Amino acid sequence: MSSRTIITRQQSGHSVGQRGKQGPIITIDGPAGVGKSTIAKQLASRLGYRYLDTGALYRAVAWKVRASEVDPADHRTVAKLLPETCITLEQSRDGVRVLVDGQDVTGEIRTPEISESASVVSAIPAVRQWLLPIQRQAGASGGVVAEGRDLGTHVFPEADMKFFLEADVDVRAARRRDQLRAAGHVESLAQTEERIKARDLRDQARAVAPLAPAADARLINTSALGVDAIVEQMIAVIATKL
Ligand code: C5P
Repeated sequence: MSSRTIITRQQSGHSVGQRGKQGPIITIDGPAGVGKSTIAKQLASRLGYRYLDTGALYRAVAWKVRASEVDPADHRTVAKLLPETCITLEQSRDGVRVLVDGQDVTGEIRTPEISESASVVSAIPAVRQWLLPIQRQAGASGGVVAEGRDLGTHVFPEADMKFFLEADVDVRAARRRDQLRAAGHVESLAQTEERIKARDLRDQARAVAPLAPAADARLINTSALGVDAIVEQMIAVIATKL
């Protein structure tokens, strides 16, 4: 088998992961389109750590909600779907694959519609509560770069090193539009910017675990910096701290 399950949430509700911390936990949080995924993947690869994309978990829940024809804003019905949902992240040669109830949804969770629904379901407290142990199990063994919105504040408050990335909204919109185009989804820059602003607002305003830098996070503005320069900066900071 070329793939490895790094974290599985069984239908019974038990999660499976490695026990005992064997390396540092590094968190990277920030708003949409700030470059988190690219930077986190590259940093993980440079350090020889695993990469944990927590947004993929929220996207997987959103995929299940849409496939079940449930309104993502319907808290009660979304909450009822969770115990019968199985999300698996598999490490394969081409990167991490995302499975929902055994179905590979890796490509399908990257559409603008799923981004929108993920942003809506992520404000539901029951969803955040359900995903919390999954994320903690996935990172428990350490040697991990975990990225999302609330990793430094809620998921791994004891992380060894925390980063929070920022960038101007027009820069983030242009980056996100290019990513979408590369994946075959065409929308105007103005549309992408509107969607990003709406997601930012929802992420910052939600009652549970809103998007915010942890008090001890290192802030990096990525507007004018390339990925390589940012990763070098992070490695230099990590070297002085760990
Ligand atoms: O990072 P990504 O765009 O894949 O995340 C999708 C959505 O999941 C975000 O818009 C955000 O609302 C939510 N999310 C979250 N907390 C995280 C990661 C993602 O609320 N730790």
